[in-house]
Amino acid sequence: MKTHFSTFVFLAGFVVYVTIRGVFEQRAKGNKTKVSRVDGQERVLLVLVGAGCLLLPVVYLATSWLAFADYRLPLAVTGAGTLTMALALWLFWRAHKDLGRNWSVTLELHEEHRLITHGVYRTVRHPMYAAIWLFGLAQGMLLHNWLAGWSAFAAFAVMFFVRTPREERMMLEHFGEEYREYMRRTGRVLPRPR
Ligand code: SAH
Repeated sequence: MKTHFSTFVFLAGFVVYVTIRGVFEQRAKGNKTKVSRVDGQERVLLVLVGAGCLLLPVVYLATSWLAFADYRLPLAVTGAGTLTMALALWLFWRAHKDLGRNWSVTLELHEEHRLITHGVYRTVRHPMYAAIWLFGLAQGMLLHNWLAGWSAFAAFAVMFFVRTPREERMMLEHFGEEYREYMRRTGRVLPRPR
C-alpha cells in the first residue's frame, strides 16, 4: 500500500468525485428518457474511462505490479496537483449543479429536458468534461506512475473526442437553432475568444 502524501490527496479527491456523482445521480432519478444514444460504442467508452479512473489506480495503490513504471516528482508538483484537483472538483460540482436534472451519465435527453446556458455553461458547452480533463491531469501529478497516473487522462481523451461530436449532434437535432446559436457564442472546454 502506497502511503505518500500525494496518494492521500488523490484518494480524497476520488472520494469527493464519486460522492458528487452519487448525489446528482439520486436527483436525476425518475427522469423519463425521450432520446437515448446509448449503444455499444458508448458502453465501451464508459468501461474504458472506468478502468482508467479506477482499475489502474487501485492496482497501483494496492500492489507493486506497476512498480516498473514508477517515477518521482518534486513536492512542488504535488502542490500543483492538489490545486488542480481542487479546481477540477469545484468545476465538476458546479457543472452538475447547473445542469440539475438535465444531467445523465450516458447520452440521453429527457421528457422535460431544458437547454442550460447559465452558470458555468454560459461560456463553455462542456464544463463537466473540462473538469474531467483537469482531474486526469491532477491524477498524473499525484500518482507517480506512468500507467496509473495517466490512465484516466488517456482514456478520457478517447472518450472526449468520440463522444463530444455525438453529443453536440444530439443536442442540435433536439434543440435546433437554440443550440446552434449557443454554439456560436461558446467554446467546447475553453471560452471562445472575443
Ligand atoms: N457535455 C456536458 C454535459 C455532460 S453530461 C458537459 O461536459 O458539461 C451529458 C448529458 O448532458 C447529455 O446526455 C445531454 O443530455 C446533457 N447536456 C449536455 N449539455 C447540456 C446543456 N447545455 N443543457 C442541458 N443538457 C445538456
